[in-house]
Amino acid sequence: MITIDGSYGEGGGQILRTALALSLVTGKPFSINNIRAGRKKPGLMRQHLTAVNAAVEIGDAAIEGNRIGSQAFRFEPVTVKSGTYRFAIGSAGSCTLVFQTILPALLIAGEPSEIILEGGTHNPFAPPFDFLEKAFLPVINRMGPAVRAVLEKPGFYPAGGGRFKVSVDPAGMNRIDLIERGKVIGRRARAAVANLPVSIANRELKVIRDELEWAREQLAVVDVEDSQGPGNILSVEIVSENVTEVFTGFGQKGISAEKVAKRTVRTVREYLAADVPVGRYLADQLLLPMAMAGGGKFRTLSPTKHTSTNAEIIKKFIDVEITVNECDQNQWEIEIWSG
Ligand code: ATP
Repeated sequence: MITIDGSYGEGGGQILRTALALSLVTGKPFSINNIRAGRKKPGLMRQHLTAVNAAVEIGDAAIEGNRIGSQAFRFEPVTVKSGTYRFAIGSAGSCTLVFQTILPALLIAGEPSEIILEGGTHNPFAPPFDFLEKAFLPVINRMGPAVRAVLEKPGFYPAGGGRFKVSVDPAGMNRIDLIERGKVIGRRARAAVANLPVSIANRELKVIRDELEWAREQLAVVDVEDSQGPGNILSVEIVSENVTEVFTGFGQKGISAEKVAKRTVRTVREYLAADVPVGRYLADQLLLPMAMAGGGKFRTLSPTKHTSTNAEIIKKFIDVEITVNECDQNQWEIEIWSG
């Protein structure tokens, strides 16, 4: 049985999601303790518990310790069942993170799957739906499988109540390398507000126009009508020849629209200046699919603790080596290969 220390490195929820995902993929059971020891409220929160229970359902797994607040559990999968599933978090917990827990196994399962996910779709500290759809899934699809996600209703933190639907056509995973970004061929910024004044979105886009010097046609305001609660996000998309990246600003009470937009502009500028294809968030999320493919290589910005932590957890389940080397100023190369 693989044992995992949930306090390792970043010490957050990603450790248990990666372990669940790879336990399903490899059929190897594991136990974990010190769950989210690095966080203010340690243990399983709703989002994590939903991910655990989703993995149990898909893997017909035996489980001990799957309760809110639990700081340890044991997970023993029996199989991977493709099919039709619905997972609801019942709070604004991120459903994109629940989805990323079960996706890897369904990518290589025997049959297609259809999944409905309900909860938060645009949460700070989690991949927003737009990132999933435009940045993460296109890379997965280039590796072989065909995954299509459709947002049916946005769910903003803290009210949640969002929903998206995914279809997964499994296939073998092929290695890909993402070394060159290629020319930037598209730039779009979308400011969305729900139950909040549209002026917030306009102010955010003004910052984009002034600071990045983008044209009006590249900017869009979305006034979301059927949202359970208030919300505001600024989503900036950089489409390059070899990859698309999405950078998100989250509106927050007490933080001006200008500040939200300026922070987002900073991350966009940093990405563009480094001339790498893969941003910081995509970097930690690509390690797992690349390990499943038996290898891969990409260039990114300086690696985060999420990336180094994820690499260590992956190595516990799959016999791969993962190296991280600074290869140029502001450029890092991460390589995964079969050990
Ligand atoms: P915890 O409450 O334990 O911090 P968590 O379960 O919400 O954790 P983390 O362990 O912090 O999650 O992992 C968050 C994941 O969300 C990481 O994979 C990170 O790349 C991703 N992520 C966070 N913010 C963004 C963003 N703006 N765009 C894309 N991905 C993001």
